Amino acid sequence: MRLFVLSLCCLQLALLASAVKEDEELFDWQEFHLTIENPQAAATVRHYVNARDFLVANENHLGYTESVVVPPQEVIGFMAFLGNLQVKYEILEKDVGGMLLRARLENKLSARAFNNDPSTYFAQSSEIYTWMEGLVSQNSGVASLVSIGRSYEGRNLRVLRLNMNGGSNKPVIFIDAAIHAREWLAPATLNYIVKQLINDYKAGNSEVRTLMNKFDWHFMPVVNPDGYDYTFRSSSTRYWRKTRKPYRFAYGADPNRNFDFMFGGPGTSNNPSSDIYHGPNAFSEPETKALSDYLTGIRNQLQQGMYISFHTYGQWWLTPPGYTRSLPSDHTEMMRVGNAAAAAIRAVSGQNFRVGQPANVGLYEAAGGSYDWVKYRLGVKYSFTPELRPYYNGSLSGFSPSAREIPNSGKEIYQAVKAVVKEIM
Ligand SMILES: [Zn+2]
Repeated sequence: MRLFVLSLCCLQLALLASAVKEDEELFDWQEFHLTIENPQAAATVRHYVNARDFLVANENHLGYTESVVVPPQEVIGFMAFLGNLQVKYEILEKDVGGMLLRARLENKLSARAFNNDPSTYFAQSSEIYTWMEGLVSQNSGVASLVSIGRSYEGRNLRVLRLNMNGGSNKPVIFIDAAIHAREWLAPATLNYIVKQLINDYKAGNSEVRTLMNKFDWHFMPVVNPDGYDYTFRSSSTRYWRKTRKPYRFAYGADPNRNFDFMFGGPGTSNNPSSDIYHGPNAFSEPETKALSDYLTGIRNQLQQGMYISFHTYGQWWLTPPGYTRSLPSDHTEMMRVGNAAAAAIRAVSGQNFRVGQPANVGLYEAAGGSYDWVKYRLGVKYSFTPELRPYYNGSLSGFSPSAREIPNSGKEIYQAVKAVVKEIM
């Protein structure tokens, strides 16, 4: 009986923790960035936050809350609470809903100005697929769309393949995006690169002709379409990160903690309401299962090529392994290739991208990620996770840039991708 009461309490807490309504637009909600220095204070803050309708959208590697979005009527009380606890905080945004509304309007304008071309605005998964179908019909014989499975909610999981000279058994460059739902700049950047490669190939650019004739290019714009499309619903769903498969009292697993290498290791959680919940078992999510099956099927070609998984944000070009800070035996070679990406970006925009394993360049250890699995289970030496613009500052708004950032990101990452591929030829 006691056990029952205890588990009922846990259930109630978890329900309260996710009580922000799905259609809440967050006008005048304020984003607090907290610096919590000890585990006890973290637990007290977590308890306070969970008991209220706050939006918690960023957890650091210790599981401490970093970023909390607070409704206007709770702001004064929360400040007093933090003051008593001597927790340092900064208010990063005074009107999260207003900030997101501006971003949405800019996105609409971009879509209209550029004829709904998903390399110029943030498009939902079905719009991206329709655009890619158009690319396939304009480039018949060299472009094709492959369906590799369905998401939990039944959305198509699709890969665009560009094999310009029709060769068989060519080494593969595989690029994916939006394994994390809220990282909108990642698929938009991928779409930008697809378009540039096709245009430059057709224009006779010799560098691009060489790269595309030698390699078979595969692009998966949206690995997690359920989560990704969900982030378009309202301001309160905008920062959703995981899949949408239900787990007891919560939704979704973190697909980038769900791969079958070091599953459940550092930087993951077994709590379904956590943003870094690894899922009940490796490949529990249909999306990661489908992606891993597809990659296994092209394993031999991928071993001669490269795997790149686009994430946002922070400006890192991450090398594996992500689950540990220990250096791998091929550290020097991975840094050499990663540094070529950073140099290419610097030459385009002057932006600084840090290169290395996440825990060694200011991030955290994270086990069960796709790029570790590709490298250490499939034996693909060159496997990278770029974290795109903007430079990390701990804010949520880094996940929701203006559509005007798409060409800026697209230009620098296009050069970076070409640079790393040239390094392995
Ligand atoms: Zn991510």
